[in-house]
Amino acid sequence: NRQILLDSRPQGEASVSNFKLVSADTPALQDGQVLVRHRYLSLDPYMRGRMNDSKSYAQPQPLGQVMIGGTVGEVVESRHPKFAAGDQVVGMGGWQEYSVVDAGQPGAVRKVDTTQVPLSQYLGAVGMPGVTAWYGLVKIIEPKAGQTVVVSAASGAVGSAVGVLAKERGARAVGIAGGPDKCRYVTEELGFDACVDYKQHADAASLARALKQACPDGIDGHFENVGGMVLDAVLLRANAFSRIAVCGMISGYDGKPIPMAYPQLILTNRMRVEGFIVSEHMEVWPEALKELGTLVGSGRLRPRETIAQGLEAAPEAFLGLLKGRNFGKQLVQLA
Ligand code: NDP
Repeated sequence: NRQILLDSRPQGEASVSNFKLVSADTPALQDGQVLVRHRYLSLDPYMRGRMNDSKSYAQPQPLGQVMIGGTVGEVVESRHPKFAAGDQVVGMGGWQEYSVVDAGQPGAVRKVDTTQVPLSQYLGAVGMPGVTAWYGLVKIIEPKAGQTVVVSAASGAVGSAVGVLAKERGARAVGIAGGPDKCRYVTEELGFDACVDYKQHADAASLARALKQACPDGIDGHFENVGGMVLDAVLLRANAFSRIAVCGMISGYDGKPIPMAYPQLILTNRMRVEGFIVSEHMEVWPEALKELGTLVGSGRLRPRETIAQGLEAAPEAFLGLLKGRNFGKQLVQLA
């Protein structure tokens, strides 16, 4: 069983040298356990936070242990009555080829149905990133028909679902993404009403002018994944009583400061700004996954994936995700 461990903590930017590839034997199964062969490993921005040893909402990833991460795969051996060899499952198997799981533990491993939804998408649109989109949009932004919702990192795993869910609720969906290809996908394939390429703009004032064109009635709800210039520009176009769901601040994950230029606009616009962590809202998962599964099954949500090949490709693919080199959900396919 090949595994990738966290070998050292980054000083500033993360690098491949922070990770180490090793081989280990898989332990014999105890009663209640299953052995899962991973097909896809999920790479997610939150993993960057876990590499640090600082105070956060989650425990740091311990050094010398297998990197944490979502996985989908199939059961190859079972000593749990509810699982059998061949079952397709989603779990948190980590950056390794196989995992041994206590299948009875709540949330440890869950069977999935791949007749309507491809297996890999249980790590994306019909998994944690999709539920993240659903929670921030439905529970914090609460868009009404005709209102305008903006989302940053719009072509990504979370952002793509935010816009489609907003359209389903009759809102105008506007994306912010990096580069013409991502913007074209956001409007043409995901059906957003507009998309602004932030890389065409040197500062928040310029980006805010582009947002003014894309959002002629201002912004009623914003789903923030990035922070920095993007958030400044959105605040300049925000309407009175608008809401911001603070989901991520990826532009600062490698340790760069991300100052906020216009915090006073939160007051003058009487805004509601709320951060959230999706794993603290397990109560919404069933309802959210049901809607997301239907949207993917019917083709109304067509998520993109960037797939790296082989476990050894995971560190480089992960660093790429933090630099925006992914296009849609970043996965690693295991042989
Ligand atoms: P994505 O698939 O959206 O990939 C990340 C994208 O972020 C990149 O493709 C890039 O898109 C953009 N990006 C990367 N670096 C920068 C930068 N320096 N400045 C601006 N944009 C950048 O990832 P996810 O959909 O998995 O995650 C999106 C966000 O949601 C992240 O911030 C993540 O931490 C957050 N999240 C929060 C959760 C929660 O519970 N609160 C749960 C899950 C995710 P582009 O090329 O368009 O810039």
